[in-house]
Amino acid sequence: MDMRTPALLENYLAGQWVAGNGDTLAYVSSAGLDLDAAFAFARETAGPALRAMTYGERAQRLAQIVATLQANRDDYYAIATANSGTVAADSAVDIDGAIYTLSTYAKLGASLGDAHTLLDGATVPLAKDASFAVRHVFRPTPGVALFINAFNFPSWGLWEKAAGALLAGVPVIVKPATATAWLTQRMVADVVAAGMLPPGSLSVICGSAAGLLDRIGPFDVVSFTGSADTAATLRAHPAFTQRAARINVEADSLNSAVLLPDARPGTPVFDQFVREVAREMTVKSGQKCTAIRRAMVPVEHFDAAAAAIAERLAKTVVGNPRNASVTMGSLVSLAQKRAVLDGIAQLQTEAETLYDGNREAAFVDADANSACVAPVLLGLRDGATGKRVHDTEVFGPVATLVGYRDLDEAVALAERGQGSLVVSLYSNDALAMRAPALALAHAHGRVHAVDASVAKTQTGHGNVMPQSLHGGPGRAGGGEELGGLRALRFYHVRAAVQGPAALVEALTQNAVELPK
Ligand code: NAP
Repeated sequence: MDMRTPALLENYLAGQWVAGNGDTLAYVSSAGLDLDAAFAFARETAGPALRAMTYGERAQRLAQIVATLQANRDDYYAIATANSGTVAADSAVDIDGAIYTLSTYAKLGASLGDAHTLLDGATVPLAKDASFAVRHVFRPTPGVALFINAFNFPSWGLWEKAAGALLAGVPVIVKPATATAWLTQRMVADVVAAGMLPPGSLSVICGSAAGLLDRIGPFDVVSFTGSADTAATLRAHPAFTQRAARINVEADSLNSAVLLPDARPGTPVFDQFVREVAREMTVKSGQKCTAIRRAMVPVEHFDAAAAAIAERLAKTVVGNPRNASVTMGSLVSLAQKRAVLDGIAQLQTEAETLYDGNREAAFVDADANSACVAPVLLGLRDGATGKRVHDTEVFGPVATLVGYRDLDEAVALAERGQGSLVVSLYSNDALAMRAPALALAHAHGRVHAVDASVAKTQTGHGNVMPQSLHGGPGRAGGGEELGGLRALRFYHVRAAVQGPAALVEALTQNAVELPK
């Protein structure tokens, strides 16, 4: 296929392809689109058609989407390399991660069979003779699901959200980040062309988000992924403050990996920790919301950990993602490179530089003017003295090694992230991780624990598994996504239906308990 950047990415709205009427040389444009018509078409035409199907039938549609994406996979890889600068293994995280997530929801959704309603718990009598009772039901919200997505996952970012929305029967309007809208737009185009969804179930708007939230009504939901600053702007919009639409936010995060005191150098878990830190720094050039930003080690193991991580980082071959010898491609843009170099400089005001691949690096097939940045490991021996390392997310191949005195201090330092997506724990003793896992659960959407017995089977600190919750409290945005069928909750409204026992019993027709 022709991999030159298209001159203008068309938008798919109200069941039609339309170009915005902005500057025609522009890569994307959403100017001049009839957003009212687009939202009305999705709500009034696509929504009822989707909800006329059962959960099982909608799950089949997800399986058909999987088949369509698989058929065009090679093109997606080419777009990812051209637009995001990723090597094939990193494109896989985004593209195959999306396909796996959709297939998982196709299977989970099939288990809901021919239901049209989800039940939340058993009938509870409200009268002594049980003649009057209550049952809680979940019904799909009759609005649209608007996704405003980040640049780093143009594929997975769409489908990890759309899987839950479409399974729930809620039409999707996606506004991808401008920098990487190409892959999202192409995937929507392929799925629309395959014709398996009712018209208007999936729309894409490439370009500015202006005016989108003005159309959001009380039964619509918005799912935002991006920076905490943009999230704060969005939350203040009347769509949420006045019309009380719901918003799910996945924002930035200072994720930690904690080496427990028993995991001394020379033990298998120490090596596992070192591998994981180096891998998390370099996968997708560190442009992953779940990447390890703070690697915490007992202060007595600080030097050994620094040397071992640096040794692995030195093997990273940075450069043009099309060159087969390259293991880490570029950042997504020169603007991101500037932001990452600024971030490193900020962290260096309080942290020492333990490894800087940029000092000696000759990028392969790329020069100093490219968007390449080599891995940088910073260090703060006395973690408690730091401020910036605990609150500055540098969205690139950068992490800080943080020393701690005892496990209580490690827990306190992890909490200084003010709420993160994930923390990982490494110990040679599975049960030694129980106390820190529970102590850190309130501040993290996911706790990932590793001992030697799961060295080969563990799914990775930064990999988001559709079976597990994704999101995090506080600074991470307070959102919840995925987690198996828990994902459906956001796209439903829960109501308590109370009445005569016969009515409450009748609610179970064409209904199934939402599995916990
Ligand atoms: P961003 O600048 O906040 O942009 C995110 C999205 O919001 C883009 O689609 C952007 O559109 C749009 N946007 C920007 N300003 C807006 C406004 N005033 N009103 C409405 N929409 C607006 O974030 P980013 O730089 O793309 O993404 C990087 C950040 O995302 C990192 O901090 C990372 O940690 C976070 N992230 C989190 C997760 C997670 O799951 N928790 C996943 C991935 C990334 P334009 O592109 O057109 O400006």
